[in-house]
Amino acid sequence: MPAEGANLQKELNPLANAERQFDEAADRLNLPAGLREVIKRPRRVTIVSLPVAMDDGLLKVFTGYRVQHSIVRGPAKGGIRYHPDVTREEVEALAAWMTWKCAVVNIPFGGGKGGIVCDPSKMSKGELERLTRRYAADLSDLFGPESDVPAPDVNTNEQVMAWIMDTYSMHERRTEYAVVTGKPLEVGGSAGRREATGRGVLFCVREACEHLRLPLSGARVAVQGFGNVGSVSAALMAREGAKLVAASDITGGIHNPAGLDVGELLLWVADHRGVKGFPGGQPLTTPIVEHDCDILVPAALENQITHENAARIRARIVAEGANGPTTPDADRILSDKGVFVIPDILCNSGGVTVSYFEWVQNRMGFYWPEKEVNGRLEHAMVEAFRGVLSKAIEHKVNMRVAAFMVAIERVVKVIMLRGVYA
Ligand code: NAD
Repeated sequence: MPAEGANLQKELNPLANAERQFDEAADRLNLPAGLREVIKRPRRVTIVSLPVAMDDGLLKVFTGYRVQHSIVRGPAKGGIRYHPDVTREEVEALAAWMTWKCAVVNIPFGGGKGGIVCDPSKMSKGELERLTRRYAADLSDLFGPESDVPAPDVNTNEQVMAWIMDTYSMHERRTEYAVVTGKPLEVGGSAGRREATGRGVLFCVREACEHLRLPLSGARVAVQGFGNVGSVSAALMAREGAKLVAASDITGGIHNPAGLDVGELLLWVADHRGVKGFPGGQPLTTPIVEHDCDILVPAALENQITHENAARIRARIVAEGANGPTTPDADRILSDKGVFVIPDILCNSGGVTVSYFEWVQNRMGFYWPEKEVNGRLEHAMVEAFRGVLSKAIEHKVNMRVAAFMVAIERVVKVIMLRGVYA
């Protein structure tokens, strides 16, 4: 492989990137080498082969993963992704980011993540249900409210969480809502969970705008990935007076310098399964991340901003709704350009925060109104943002390094108190 190709492949390896981000912050904390290794490595990686009876009557075997990166601060917590490109390394990276995310926003969870290599767009609802139940059954020894609590991620939703809850409950011979979060309201879900990640993005963007003295009202926003996180953050920012000038998803991209009508766009996407063809805008001819805007929200997948396009980013703020959208090489370029990046482990932590509230409500058997959920979320996000910002200012580092420093310090503190059972 030519050197440039090999370098690019290395740059796009999410596990290598998660480790580089960790190392950059850990270097500044002077951790003893052994302890550093303890918190860097995943606690447990499980790989399962999942036979599923397909609609045509044949058996097909899928590969599933569950990684528990850390249970130091509480049960492993993290979503399950259904995607053809899922790999063990990707799941390990996402699990590690969950550990740091829960620590940044200071909720009592560790980090975990799961994934199944599959293409849900080519599967029937029945096939997806059987795949999900087999995965949940095979991992029912790992899962549990006190040990490992999954949630939705790309291509999994409330329905998938309801199937996991039901399968686990059947094995336990009792209903156990708190084994999974992101459930439908009727089966132990929390008010406000569906919108929580996008709402958290809004709170972070609002704080960043205040810090940079950039008025949110009138700011031009571009959103890559108009799914759950992207569309909710766009709608909430629009409500604060921001102007959505570009949006994209897997079907394509659209833009309108005068602003896209977010309400109309949401209806269009619901009817047409994508933003493509929206009559209130023109098709995008350049990559959305390079679009002229004040606030860019990457809310699709990893590795969207790399060393190849970082210099062309025109936004003043990059609010990472997605996990891992910016590579470490790109981070350096953005930092040098003065782009204010709100790192994923802070920016999209609203989802796991309300997952924590859901778990708490399940265990209490007492449910809060949405206003209370949103108020508690706002408090947690604003505290987390301000904590990271002051760390960044104190140590003259960017927000990502600062967020990792805050998170690693919190995990280390607990390890020191508990001791290492070595
Ligand atoms: P989703 O499936 O609802 O939305 C993803 C969107 O990205 C879809 O609109 C899809 O069409 C689009 N997309 C996919 N590939 C694209 C591409 N190449 N270019 C442009 N758009 C593309 O998923 P989601 O739950 O909104 O998750 C999005 C990201 O946010 C993921 O990285 C996920 O890990 C992260 N995240 C989600 C949550 C949550 O609570 N849902 C929490 C934290 C982080």
